[in-house]
Amino acid sequence: MALAENASPRGVAEAISYAVTHGIVMGKKKHALLGTDLCHAPFTYCPSPVDAKCFQRAIDITIPLNHLVNSISENAGYLRKSLAEVAKVDSQFTGRLLAIYDAVPITPIKMSICRYDYFISADGPRKSLRMVEINCIASSFGSHATNTSQMHKFLATHPAYNLDVDINRLPPNNALADIAKGIYLAHDIFIQRYKVTTPCATVMIVQPGEHNAYDQYVLQAKLWAEHSVDLVRASLLDVITYGNVNDAGLLQLNLPDVGKAVIATVVYFRAGYGPDDYPSEKHWQARELIERSVAVKCPSVGTQLVGAKKIQQVLDLPGQVEQFVNESDAAAIRSTFARQYSLVPAEGGEDAARLGIDRPDDFVMKPQREGGGHNLFGETLKTALQTMSIDERAGYVLMERIHPVVVNNFLVRNGGVSKVDVVSELGTYGVHIVNGEDIFDSYAAGSLLRSKPVAENDGGIAAGLAVLDSPYLVQ
Ligand code: ADP
Ligand code: MG
Repeated sequence: MALAENASPRGVAEAISYAVTHGIVMGKKKHALLGTDLCHAPFTYCPSPVDAKCFQRAIDITIPLNHLVNSISENAGYLRKSLAEVAKVDSQFTGRLLAIYDAVPITPIKMSICRYDYFISADGPRKSLRMVEINCIASSFGSHATNTSQMHKFLATHPAYNLDVDINRLPPNNALADIAKGIYLAHDIFIQRYKVTTPCATVMIVQPGEHNAYDQYVLQAKLWAEHSVDLVRASLLDVITYGNVNDAGLLQLNLPDVGKAVIATVVYFRAGYGPDDYPSEKHWQARELIERSVAVKCPSVGTQLVGAKKIQQVLDLPGQVEQFVNESDAAAIRSTFARQYSLVPAEGGEDAARLGIDRPDDFVMKPQREGGGHNLFGETLKTALQTMSIDERAGYVLMERIHPVVVNNFLVRNGGVSKVDVVSELGTYGVHIVNGEDIFDSYAAGSLLRSKPVAENDGGIAAGLAVLDSPYLVQ
């Protein structure tokens, strides 16, 4: 694809106005009054080239990955054993989640909206798909991803854009509709199984005042427009203040802004993925209350734990993926793995630490955290390995550093535009719904492309490093 040498002012204006008028917006600060202090979310002016075969491979392994995540979430022994060491070090987060998992039985209807993230690696002669991580909770940006794909499609045919784009190379992206459909399906199964006749709603657990709320509001509106399903927003504190679980296990919420009591059908977490979301015991009590109820948790605490970085390191060991999915799916999944190493002494941690100290630029050190901005790279990684206590180190995993394909693009941020070398991270959403003994549905639900300046080590749009993008499929 011939990327424009310059982004024309008129083209950029079209792009920004499209973004703002189609909901691709973010709050500029936390706790702003709804509808104020917002800006277009950052995005690339052009779609970035993505290898078509790698893109297809990522889509193809989404359903096998859904099965992998679900099977592990139900295997208490596996989760406990794999997480034992990190739960000791990270006792206030991983440890507490594991304690809730141990205390609460798995309920019959399960749902997850995962996102499987990859770089396309340029190491070696062929491009290859390399997994960065599996997100099992609060997999965000589905709405913005769909709308960004549509924005690039709109611009591709617009005279102000002046780009030589083959529109057939811009794949459709139904993340928004497919995620809304998944929540609707789980809601519907719940109503049928529990014969709910009183008012009910899906519930989104949110961070109070979060600045990425508009991606959530777009989904909320879609759920109503397509399926007439109400979604109410509640913080963990709201749940403990206004919620209770009745004898039948139903979670009832009487939220002041809703004005009537509703039974929660699906509890969809867009918060609760890091320790900052649990600043008091009440927050943990809220999480446990939800977990104890029969509401469909998206995700359940077990599924959230599968997203721990430690589990992804364990899965890289020989024979692990193979325990959960068939041989050919396991091979396809495994072919995307970058090497990962435990930093626990009894698991070869000393040798791994030595590797990291000797070649710090070839690895990434990851703690049991989500959301960007927590990983260690280069000299910081080396110093950390040299100075941390053995116990502290055990809370991290060491991962081989992936070197993604670099392309040139324009980043549009805060109304301004700059031309930079970027790397792109491709995510595919996977929706998985279980009803009792049966898998009700499991499907690939669109994709997200995020690009960031090549000089940035860490990623994340909410963290302020990456921007929204969409793929332009190339051979
Ligand atoms: P988080 O849960 O914080 O999103 P990730 O594993 O996705 O954790 O890491 C955050 C970012 O760090 C990624 O978006 C990517 O930019 C970078 N990163 C993570 N793993 C690697 C890796 N193995 N090689 C290169 N960069 C990586
Ligand atoms: Mg990530």
